[in-house]
Amino acid sequence: MFQNIFDSHAHYDDGWFDADRDALLASLPEKGVCGVVNNSVDLENAKRVIALAEQYDFIYAAVGIHPENLENLPGDYLLQIAELTKHPKVVAIGETGLDYHWDIPKPDQLRVFEEQLQLSIDLNMPIVVHDREAHGDTFDLLRKYKPNALVHCFSGSVELMREAMRLGCYISLGGVVTFKNARHSVEVASEIPLDRLLLETDAPYMAPVPFRGKRCDSSMILYAAEKIASLRGITAQELLDITADNAKRFYRI
Ligand SMILES: [Zn+2]
Repeated sequence: MFQNIFDSHAHYDDGWFDADRDALLASLPEKGVCGVVNNSVDLENAKRVIALAEQYDFIYAAVGIHPENLENLPGDYLLQIAELTKHPKVVAIGETGLDYHWDIPKPDQLRVFEEQLQLSIDLNMPIVVHDREAHGDTFDLLRKYKPNALVHCFSGSVELMREAMRLGCYISLGGVVTFKNARHSVEVASEIPLDRLLLETDAPYMAPVPFRGKRCDSSMILYAAEKIASLRGITAQELLDITADNAKRFYRI
């Protein structure tokens, strides 16, 4: 039985959990889960993310605007995020960042990401960064603002991982390391300094092999943990212990 599973990035507000959210969340501690940082994608859902964090001791909240959710963003959205961060269970701004996979106007994405980077500096709060097919611009902004950042679901090369380390960032890896075509993730998992690595699910997405395509939950982190631990020559429990410590340090829990 494993313990100390800290899921640094999930979305338990997602509709995929509507049928059994409470039963599932209540069952996680007995499966060894000690912490989950539930991320929001817009203001609407941030409130529900905070409500879940109020309901469960081991669940924390991140509040921010995801690059796929820029439509109808109110003019005072930054003020609203700042207000929400005053809640004791809110541990980070997020998730935010850049997504060049989808056809979303880049100037809007860049503006909203930069504004949230500045907010994380102003509030002295960690920030959770989404970087999908946007390494160049994401890292230009990380160099510019030097935030206390977690680059979640990291998809870059070992060279980019080293740049993230130079900038003082943390990186989280999840189910992708179990995929057959995950050369970059496996290389990064093999090389990253172990004190800067966090584990995540991005639940309900990114379920590991053998559940690929199915709904993911925090207990499935074990598959990524076992894969990474084998690459590093340590036990899965040792990796869980180290990454839980890292997550608590990054999120200041
Ligand atoms: Zn996410």
